[in-house]
Amino acid sequence: MEKIQMTTPLVEMDGDEMTRILWQMIKEELLLPFVDLCTEYYDLGLAHRNETEDQVTVDAANATKKYGVAVKCATITPNADRVKEYDLKSMWKSPNGTIRAMLDGTVFRAPILVRGIEPYVKTWKKPIVMARHAYGDVYKASEIRIPGPGTCELVFTGEDGSTQRETIHQFQGPGIVQGMHNLDSSIESFARSCFSYALDQNMDLWFAAKDTISKKYDHHFKDVFQDIFEAEYKEAFVKQGLSYFYTLIDDAVARVVKSEGGFIWACKNYDGDVMSDLIATAFGSLAMMTSVLVSPQGYYEFEAAHGTVQRHYYKHLKGEETSTNSVATIFAWSGALKKRGELDENPALEEFAGKLEQATLRTIEEGKMTKDLALITTVEHPQVLSSQGFIQAIRETLEAML
Ligand code: NAP
Ligand code: MG
Repeated sequence: MEKIQMTTPLVEMDGDEMTRILWQMIKEELLLPFVDLCTEYYDLGLAHRNETEDQVTVDAANATKKYGVAVKCATITPNADRVKEYDLKSMWKSPNGTIRAMLDGTVFRAPILVRGIEPYVKTWKKPIVMARHAYGDVYKASEIRIPGPGTCELVFTGEDGSTQRETIHQFQGPGIVQGMHNLDSSIESFARSCFSYALDQNMDLWFAAKDTISKKYDHHFKDVFQDIFEAEYKEAFVKQGLSYFYTLIDDAVARVVKSEGGFIWACKNYDGDVMSDLIATAFGSLAMMTSVLVSPQGYYEFEAAHGTVQRHYYKHLKGEETSTNSVATIFAWSGALKKRGELDENPALEEFAGKLEQATLRTIEEGKMTKDLALITTVEHPQVLSSQGFIQAIRETLEAML
C-alpha cells in the first residue's frame, strides 16, 4: 500500500512518562507504516522544557497559530517533588496553561463511546461534550478571613478616580469573604469558541449558569452568549438545523441526566471543573476522554484528557509489564489528522483517521483491551493486553480494514 501524503505539517508536541512511551508506540505501529507523516516536532518533555527554560512550549504554541492544528502528548505540570526529581531550574508553569493562554482557547472534552463500555446513565447514547470556561471566577479570586465585627465593601476605582461601592456584609462576628472577577474579552472568546465548535461538530449547544441568583455576574455571561449568538452565529445554526439555548445550571443537570447525549454543554469555570469529571466518570473511564483546545480563530490542539500515568511509568522503568490504555492518545492523533485532512482537502488522510478510530473501537469490541477497561466491560471474557500488545492488536485490525 502506498503511504498517504500530507501537504501541511502537523504540530507535534511530545510529552512525559508513560504517555511518552505510548506516543512512540502509536507512531511506530499505527501511523508511520501508513502515513508519510509530516510533523513539526516540539519536545515538551520536562527535561527539554527545563533546558529551553520553557521556550519550547511558547514555540509550540506559536507553531499551532501558524499551521492551525496540533497534537499534544500529556505533560508533567511540575510541583515541588518534580523540581527535585528532574533537578529543575524553576517550577515551570503548566504547558497546557501556557498554550491555552496564548491561543485564548476553550477546552472541549468528549467521551469515546464503544460497545462494551456502557455509560452509568442508561439513557446516554451519544457523547456529551463538555466546554469549560478556563479563566477567572473562583480560580482567580481574592479572599479575606474576617476576624470580627466590621463592614466589608466592594470598591471599584476607575482610572479617572470615580468610584462604585457596594456593601458585601456588615459582620457582627468573624467570617469569610471572597472577591472574584471575569473579563468581557474572555467571556466573548469562550462564547465564540463554543459556537464555532458546535458548528464544526454539528452539535447543539447548551449553556448554563445561575443568573436568577447572580443577577449581574452570571447574567452578564448569559447576555454575552445571547448577543454573540444573535449577531454572528444564529444564521449558521439555523442553516445546519442546530440549536443554542441557555438554561439554569440546576435545570441543566436534570436535563443532562435525562438526555440521550449528543450535544455540547458549556459551563462556567467551576461548574465545568466539577461537571467534566462527573461526565467523564459516568461515561466509563478517564482513559476514554479526548480533549481539544479550540481558539476563537479556529486553531485546534488535540490531546488525551488524562495525565502522564506516572504510576504505570515507574512500573515500566522497573522493567514490569504495563497495561496502559492508549485510546485517548490515539484519538488525539486521529482527531488532529482528520482536522488536518479537512483543512488541506486531503480526503485520504481524513479517511485514514476515521479507519484508525474504527479499528481501535473494533479491537475493544472484539474483547481485546487494556486492564482498566477489562475491569468495567460488559464484553464476556475480555483478553487483557499489555500497552504494546493492545496497540499491536489495533494494528492487526487496521491492516485487515485497509
Ligand atoms: P493520570 O496520569 O491521569 O493518572 C491517574 C490514574 O488514572 C493512573 O494512575 C491510572 O490509575 C488511571 N489512568 C489515567 N490514565 C490512564 C490510562 N491511559 N490507562 C490506564 N489508566 C489510566 O494522573 P496522575 O498520575 O495524577 O498525574 C501524572 C502527571 O500527569 C502529573 O505530573 C500531572 O501534572 C500530569 N497531568 C497532565 C495532564 C495533561 O498534560 N493534559 C493532565 C492531567 C495531569 P491506576 O494507577 O489505578 O491504574
Ligand atoms: Mg478538576
